[in-house]
Amino acid sequence: MARAEPPRTAIIIGGGPCGLLTALALTQRSHMTCTVFELCSSHTTFGGAIGIPPSGLQLFGSLGVLEGLLARGNASSKLVWHSLCCADALGPFDMAARSKETTGYGCLRIKRTDMLEVLLEAVAAAGIVVHFGQRLPAIYETHAGVVVSFDEGVIAEATADILLGCDGIHAAVRVLYVNPDRRPMYTGSAGLMGLASAALLTSESADTLRDGIHATMTCEGTFMTVPCRTGSDEFYWAFQRKVPSPNQTEWLNGWDIRSCEEIEELKDVLYGILTCEETHGGKWAAILCDLIDATREMRFYPVYQLPSAPGNRWYRGRILLLGDAAHAMPPHAGQGICMVLEDATLLANLLSVALTPSDTMPEGDGAEEIIGDLFRRYEQGRRSRVEDVARWAIVVIASR
Ligand SMILES: Cc1cc2nc3c(=O)[nH]c(=O)nc-3n(C[C@H](O)[C@H](O)[C@H](O)COP(=O)(O)OP(=O)(O)OC[C@H]3O[C@@H](n4cnc5c(N)ncnc54)[C@H](O)[C@@H]3O)c2cc1C
Repeated sequence: MARAEPPRTAIIIGGGPCGLLTALALTQRSHMTCTVFELCSSHTTFGGAIGIPPSGLQLFGSLGVLEGLLARGNASSKLVWHSLCCADALGPFDMAARSKETTGYGCLRIKRTDMLEVLLEAVAAAGIVVHFGQRLPAIYETHAGVVVSFDEGVIAEATADILLGCDGIHAAVRVLYVNPDRRPMYTGSAGLMGLASAALLTSESADTLRDGIHATMTCEGTFMTVPCRTGSDEFYWAFQRKVPSPNQTEWLNGWDIRSCEEIEELKDVLYGILTCEETHGGKWAAILCDLIDATREMRFYPVYQLPSAPGNRWYRGRILLLGDAAHAMPPHAGQGICMVLEDATLLANLLSVALTPSDTMPEGDGAEEIIGDLFRRYEQGRRSRVEDVARWAIVVIASR
């Protein structure tokens, strides 16, 4: 009996970090033909800085994009804690000292937009096509493959052997097809984040902030600042605190309204905290106020997670969810990008084994069985690791 063909073509929905990294890994390791469809009309300019820990840098290296990231991001790993109740800094310590010693990899902080540019260049060099501005209203399966139709964008319909849903926490692929009842849950915590050019700060403030990652404990939450580009010419800051969810039926619009209110309110809260009489932050508080003054780009970011339950499969038929679409977690464990890299790497490795002709390949099984077996092994290989990291992220968010 002839052996069924393993999958060779993939539609990837979502051109964020997960979609681009998965396309790259599958092309390089399994020689799959991947096409990426992204909802936005170009890659998004919104986003703060993303922290990449040592294991993430190692995986980026294995995909050949590490040099590009190091050329744009900031590799400082010195962490200094401050308290506004005393003028002295508590610390510092090198967060990546041990890993630099044992693995040769430190950590990197890079703007999400810079990271996407590096990935888009690598994807283009690998011959992978990315279609922007594609809105997806329908997915269906036939015996021969999976079909998606788009009601916006230049491509009206596409078919492939498998479809990978890499479309983030509010994933259309999950809602339309894989797991319609599984909805993201608001954690009760929201962040305010900003980007400020070093050129707009006093030279004393800029030099102090260039010195590393600074975490300041305040009575309302932790205020973090990090240099996020090579040469430390730009700083990213984030402040997290509890914010009730908006009481709106259309929750996305609700957040839009809340966003405007919160930005103004939180800016005032920050000035209030940093300059109130009870704090003795003095010079340090003045540096942080200088940073907020110099901020030209500011965003409000409600933190969601996707609760996990054993019945919530990550796949159905020929369709598999990866990255935040499958297992979004609060960013507080600093592992979001590592989870995406591990997802892409494991799937590429499993596919490359499936594509290598061998005597152990099941005879008589159809393509659907091969794909089902592949996706089952993928989910088995990832679920407990992802759930451990998600639990850790919840512990961190509760402690701030
Ligand atoms: C705009 C933005 C800014 C972010 N900023 C930060 C940050 O500052 N710090 C941080 O730690 N994390 C941030 N994140 C989250 C972080 O990028 C992810 O947690 C992580 O990188 C996982 O990546 P992902 O590709 O799975 O999901 P995402 O990064 O969410 O990417 C999903 C992609 O899919 C696209 N998409 C969504 N719906 C559809 C659809 N129906 N059809 C096609 N494409 C679709 C989105 O436009 C996006 O490009 C941000 C996410 C987004 C979308």
